[in-house]
Amino acid sequence: MRSKIVAGNWKMNKTLNESKELANELKTVVSGLTLENTRVIVAPTFVNLTGVSETVEGSVIEVAAQNMHQAESGAYTGEISGEMLKGIGLNSVILGHSERRAYFGEDDALLASKVDAALKNNLEVIFCFGEELEDRKSGNHFNVVGSQVKNGLFHLEASAWKNIVLAYEPVWAIGTGETASAEQAQEMHAFIRSIVEKQYDSGIADSVSILYGGSVKPANAEEIFSKPDVDGGLIGGAALKSEDFGAIIKAI
Ligand code: 13P
Repeated sequence: MRSKIVAGNWKMNKTLNESKELANELKTVVSGLTLENTRVIVAPTFVNLTGVSETVEGSVIEVAAQNMHQAESGAYTGEISGEMLKGIGLNSVILGHSERRAYFGEDDALLASKVDAALKNNLEVIFCFGEELEDRKSGNHFNVVGSQVKNGLFHLEASAWKNIVLAYEPVWAIGTGETASAEQAQEMHAFIRSIVEKQYDSGIADSVSILYGGSVKPANAEEIFSKPDVDGGLIGGAALKSEDFGAIIKAI
């Protein structure tokens, strides 16, 4: 059975103290829950990873990075390698977020090399992709998402997929308050699972967790998570408050 996952992408929010405070509150929230086959992940910014990891120690909460560089080491001022993330005890990294694609020029080829570098360092990859509004309006959303998934991941060997989590985040739904309907999410997730099955096999397609991201809130989480191919969420804004993130965890 594939895992259910609720992951909070904190993006460029919160100082160290604020991050620890939120992590502490979340620790209290999850300690009161019975989480069966469900993972809870938070992704603070690089400088707060260690502080948050120390804060959540002993709880089920896992910590992930929001990005990493594809090179092993060297003259890349300001960058962070997979080995460094592993070195502070992390096991997961988010790659391919639409903000990285849009504002930092990360294209499919670069992301494929980041995926390889992460896997080489035994980091699980939470791989994000999603169409823009124009793509959906023109009916091109399946093509766009299909090629992002293929170009980023289909070079991998079957055995690598146990360390892949997929996150469908339609760009038009991120931070806009506009959510894909539960039906739109389900339709896309089923499509993604079908192309993974075609490329690999039904075992891999059935066991990969596919998260939905884009304006998930306590009010809509339950409906979205109720869909059979939606295995959880990647949450932005609503992950910044423990009440909201807690309610979303409870919804799963
Ligand atoms: P919002 O939940 O703020 O729309 O952000 C989603 C997201 O980008 C998570 O990675």
